[in-house]
Amino acid sequence: MELERGIINDHLFVQTVSCPLKHAFITESGLFSGKRPVYRQRNKLHLRDALAVCFENTRHTSDDIESAIDQTKNWLQDEKSAICGAVLRSENQLTRIPVLVKNGNRLTIVQVHGKLRKRTAPTILSDPAGNKSISGYLLKAAWRWYLVKKLYPHNPVDAKFYFPDKNFKSTVEGINRFKNHDQNDEVHENLIRLFNSVDATNATKNFHDKLPELIVHTAFSGLSVAGAVNLIQSEEFNQIKESVGIHDGCKGCMHRRETNEQQGCWNLHFNTGNIRHSNHHIYELIGHGNDRGSGNGIYFQEELNIPEGVNTFEKIKKTGDSVITVQQRKYLQLLKLKEKKVPSLWIKPSLNILEKLPRPLHFIDFEAATYALPMKKGSGCYDPVYFQFSCHSLHNDGTLTHTAWLDENTGSENLHGDFSDQLYAIPAIVEGTIVQYSPFEKQAINNLIREFKRCGDDFRLKNLLAIRGSGNNQKFERFFDLSKFIRIGYYNRFMEEGLSLKQILGSVMKWERSSGRNLEIFEKPSSDEMVEILRSENPYSVIQQKNTSIVDGASAMNAWLALKNGLLDVKEKEDILRILKKYCALDSFALYIIFMHLVKVFELSVKEEVILFDSI
Ligand code: SF4
Repeated sequence: MELERGIINDHLFVQTVSCPLKHAFITESGLFSGKRPVYRQRNKLHLRDALAVCFENTRHTSDDIESAIDQTKNWLQDEKSAICGAVLRSENQLTRIPVLVKNGNRLTIVQVHGKLRKRTAPTILSDPAGNKSISGYLLKAAWRWYLVKKLYPHNPVDAKFYFPDKNFKSTVEGINRFKNHDQNDEVHENLIRLFNSVDATNATKNFHDKLPELIVHTAFSGLSVAGAVNLIQSEEFNQIKESVGIHDGCKGCMHRRETNEQQGCWNLHFNTGNIRHSNHHIYELIGHGNDRGSGNGIYFQEELNIPEGVNTFEKIKKTGDSVITVQQRKYLQLLKLKEKKVPSLWIKPSLNILEKLPRPLHFIDFEAATYALPMKKGSGCYDPVYFQFSCHSLHNDGTLTHTAWLDENTGSENLHGDFSDQLYAIPAIVEGTIVQYSPFEKQAINNLIREFKRCGDDFRLKNLLAIRGSGNNQKFERFFDLSKFIRIGYYNRFMEEGLSLKQILGSVMKWERSSGRNLEIFEKPSSDEMVEILRSENPYSVIQQKNTSIVDGASAMNAWLALKNGLLDVKEKEDILRILKKYCALDSFALYIIFMHLVKVFELSVKEEVILFDSI
């Protein structure tokens, strides 16, 4: 349910005290209820519900705010109660508390956080010093403590945080499906062991009395929560907003840059008069340590001077030898921004290895999930679960085949056994080269081999790691990490700050379009549907259904976890499974496309190193 205007809720309070300018972005942009990707949020609530099983007399409030307020009020009249999603409102201030526990007249604000914590860690939370994530939890608790105290001034109020135990190992199958086994004592015992609690009462009160500079904007630093609320509602708040300048918190702020959905904060609020590329901030320069410039009052890429020794491509080229360094990429990014000449394409000789890789070539992508509630007996919190793969195989006769597998079951079963069987069933998977875009897939195989070794069933996957050459009985590496070669040996002028698969795919497609080559990389027989998707400007968007947004590994993971946790209805399940299949297929097809692009462009030159300045 949408909240009415003028209400200050948990999200709005926390964001506003971190920067006054966020207040307008949130209240005016539909982000008012603090919505996050829907499946991630559901999995977080599922974790809360797992903890709530450990309390007595647990009940859940409705999604509807007004009903939840009434339910909370009524259930707080009981002697003992654990209210999941308790809603308290005083005037225009409102909080939804993960669990509000009542025992006699004592009220306890319970928050569940995903960070792992050892059982041997102190049971009382002391001053978090420089710890930003703990400070963030305390800030939310301080806001809730303020409202609970306002409404129940005579009750003692505590705050308790719960974290998954770092050393927990499950003794049952499928703790993530705890709702299906709510009468099972062993599941209950496991859930009690899974969570570690820490008393955060004093630390919360300290934050409530004096908001610390580490976590709030200077305008709120040193104020109490009540003082901050008064300030947000005062006439003075408008002047405060006007006095806000660029600050440290801007770096990770989602409102900073202009997007299709929003006007960027910096363009809107700060004078960017002489800056021509005002959406290119120093934080988006490739490499680390770029925010050092902000310490000197430099916030736009355009303001950075390029040293004399590297102010042309020719000079930049001389600073390296066999590889393209991050520093060279940074200077190229700056040269391009300053509209100086950069090569259309620059490829180092290391890439000529591509044609020599043993065939067939298997372009492979795995998806994995990590969650605080383990699915398997013997597993710990966040142990990875490999739930999907897609493989495009380019055979010696030039045919391209696609093999894919996704765990579609809602129950708990032999998931890794199925994953391994299906992987092994990929045609000719024990021959040729497995191309990956990160070390991840090979690491996953090693993890699975270790897991299967324990039950003596590791022999087949071992075949994926090394094979013998036909002639000289020589072992050679089966896995080829294309990202490593891109990083050291490939540049095109459409590349920006990142070298991820999706970023490289975007720049490769732009280069192909701009070169007028009519996307010749699609010549090989391939999936028509994938080709059509890739021809669009934003392939990962066009595969979505109305309410899905599976655009990266994290969103794919959360959608699949919501399925495994039993949190999807029938229609959602159908949609999610369809999109997950397309998403993973698109990743492995993208890998094939990038590879073919590199092979083709390398053919353009008889020289060892390829440097092109004009479109071909
Ligand atoms: S970009 Fe900076 S000033 Fe603007 S809303 Fe975000 S944190 Fe505040």
